[in-house]
Amino acid sequence: MRLAAEPLCRMCGAEGRITPATVVDHIVRHNGSEALFFDYENTQSLCDAAPWRCHSSRKQSIERRGFDTTIGVDGWPLDARHPGLSGGGGSAFRVDRA
Ligand SMILES: [Zn+2]
Repeated sequence: MRLAAEPLCRMCGAEGRITPATVVDHIVRHNGSEALFFDYENTQSLCDAAPWRCHSSRKQSIERRGFDTTIGVDGWPLDARHPGLSGGGGSAFRVDRA
């Protein structure tokens, strides 16, 4: 279980906050894909209670921008639609910024 393995909100943790997670979020929207829905590595623990409401704010941000701004553990955006990942793969982009 994700919440048992990761009891604290990942987004809060990235900003130095210690907040208990209350929901399991799919990092990449599964859109009906069973493979994504059941992929443990595609889940993260988030809080969805005051004051941070990371889960709600993340979903709203994605709806508004059209892409996910979540940054992965490697420091790069998780969503291929992120404008920082032009052309997919991102290797050329990484070299440019190195
Ligand atoms: Zn949070």
